[in-house]
This record gives sequence, C-alpha cells and structure tokens, in this order.
Amino acid sequence: MSVRDVRYLGDPVLREMCRDVEEVDDDVRELADDLVDTMYAADGIGLAAPQIGESLRVFVYDVRENEVEPGVLVNPRIVEAMGKQREVEGCLSIPGLDEVVERKEWVVVEGLDRDGNEVRIEAEGLLSRVLQHECDHLDGVLFVDRVSPLKRRMLLKKWSKMDESKR
Ligand code: ZN
Repeated sequence: MSVRDVRYLGDPVLREMCRDVEEVDDDVRELADDLVDTMYAADGIGLAAPQIGESLRVFVYDVRENEVEPGVLVNPRIVEAMGKQREVEGCLSIPGLDEVVERKEWVVVEGLDRDGNEVRIEAEGLLSRVLQHECDHLDGVLFVDRVSPLKRRMLLKKWSKMDESKR
C-alpha cells in the first residue's frame, strides 16, 4: 500500500476511456489500496484509477458519513438515475478550482467489490454525486466538462494561470 502521485488536468491519462477489469485479483486489490491511501492523504472523498495513472475501471470513495470501510467499485455502471441536484464540486486532479455542477439526485450503481462480488449501491445526495463524478473519470470526463461553455472557459483560463508549483 502506498500513496501515489495524483495526475492533474492536462495529463492525457485523465482523458482516456478506461479498460474493464477482467478479473479482480491481487493486482487490482493493490491498486484499490493505493487509491484509498492516496485519497485519504489528499483528504478527498473519492478517487479513480486514472487519477493515479492507471487506465482501469476502478474507483474508491468515502464520504465519511458513517463508520463503514471505504468503498471500492470495479467495472461500475449507473443503472438507474432520478432527479437533479446542483452543488459546488471539485476534483483532486484540478486542485484549487470548483464550480456548481448539476448531477442526478439519486442513482443506483452496480459493479464488483474488492473481492469480485457483485454489488448494488443505491445513493442520494453527496454519495450519489461522488459516484457519478468517479464514474465520469473512467470515461475520461471531468467536472469542468459538465458546466456551461462560458464557465468552462473561465475555469480552464484560471487553471492555466495557476502556478504549477502550488498544485
Ligand atoms: Zn475527480
């Protein structure tokens, strides 16, 4: 287990369509453990594999709402979604920037856990938002793609002006 470098906006790995995991083996569990360590080190509530340079459909999350273990999802897919929520959202790969993003209020996500068992997660509010944000990462989509073109231009301009040493 180790804390890995987080990849930032501009790194091509963040724009790739990630590959499905064929088998949840020890390598995948090690990747999940690294994701969890890196997420906590960065004080994040979710982290997807491409954010540490691995183009695989794996993410972890922990919205700190209860005492359960951090969640691991492999090959996740959103199978149901309803309603709308608009909240300020950020991303560990675009530190220092945030913006209001519209998401579904309620989702059902299916996938595999770290043992390779089928899981089905029903979520609303913040957890629903995190699951949608992380699923987007696996398709190479970032939150800046989900705001208006004007806001997107402003965010990208701000990002390009930020001192790289402060990231
Ligand atoms: Zn993110």
